[in-house]
Amino acid sequence: MDAIPSWLDRLVAGGLLIPTGVDGLYGSGAALERVLDGLDALITRAGEADRPERVRFPPGASRSDFEASEYLKGFPHFAGTVHSFCGDERAHREVLRCVEVGEDWTVGQRATDIVLTPAACYPVYPMLARRGPMPAEGCLVDVLSWCFRREPSNEPTRMQMFRMREYVRIGSPEQVAAFRERWLERGQALVAALGLPHAIDLANDPFFGRVGRLLADNQRAQQLKFELLIEVNGTGAPTACLSFNYHLDHFGQIWRLALPDGTVAHTGCVAFGMERIALALFRHHGFDLAHWPETVRRVLWPKS
Ligand code: AMP
Ligand code: ZN
Repeated sequence: MDAIPSWLDRLVAGGLLIPTGVDGLYGSGAALERVLDGLDALITRAGEADRPERVRFPPGASRSDFEASEYLKGFPHFAGTVHSFCGDERAHREVLRCVEVGEDWTVGQRATDIVLTPAACYPVYPMLARRGPMPAEGCLVDVLSWCFRREPSNEPTRMQMFRMREYVRIGSPEQVAAFRERWLERGQALVAALGLPHAIDLANDPFFGRVGRLLADNQRAQQLKFELLIEVNGTGAPTACLSFNYHLDHFGQIWRLALPDGTVAHTGCVAFGMERIALALFRHHGFDLAHWPETVRRVLWPKS
């Protein structure tokens, strides 16, 4: 009897994900890219009335900004650093010898001043800090980045490198709370328009270790994180496809983001897991874009 192909096997056979030989690291085929493009434009339309400032950063971030962000306190297990060769010709010959005989050629690599971006909003706070005082209405930023998290898995929705689109609000506690309320509504409306069954739930970040358990409990008690969950993998355990986060004054303190009245700014963000939402569409509407419901096609590609 033939084994039933896994969801990952089906995504690969359908040309949506292109394997690289590394768990959680995929290329994307034309159909997946078409959906990601439609989704990106849809998220732009959903947020454009607020006139966000659009910025884009590379998937590498400043190591010193990353250290200042305190990411390592909560998520040392996810972090990715960029190392490179910085030896002489003798060291070069040693690298080639190691590759040749299958020994570890990376031992001489040294950390550079670049790390991999763990969440799209991370470079936004130091950018604003360097600009100086903030306007009374605060700031609203639209950002998208390839992100890295060291969580290898053969579950297709748990990638090591993936795209995250975010709107980031920096302002008074009231402004950030209103922003999050608005996006909780908009996020659900957007996903409903895509014909995807979903639920909102209170959540916590996967903080590391025993101290992390306390951080997670605290985050839940204060209702700082909500997620929008959709069944994507067919396992009965739905996947977080959007998150709605309130950081209190965590980033405001670190980056000394001050409002005109001198108080420390609060921050919040709504994050869209681009591949996860796209894979949810393939799960619920099938692999043939031409047979997706007409309403969904019009929402994703209004001009075609
Ligand atoms: P988070 O900062 O953990 O709330 O992540 C923001 C969004 O990115 C989540 O809601 C997911 O949709 C997406 N995401 C997080 N981790 C991964 C991953 N390992 N692979 C793919 N998407 C992810
Ligand atoms: Zn964020």
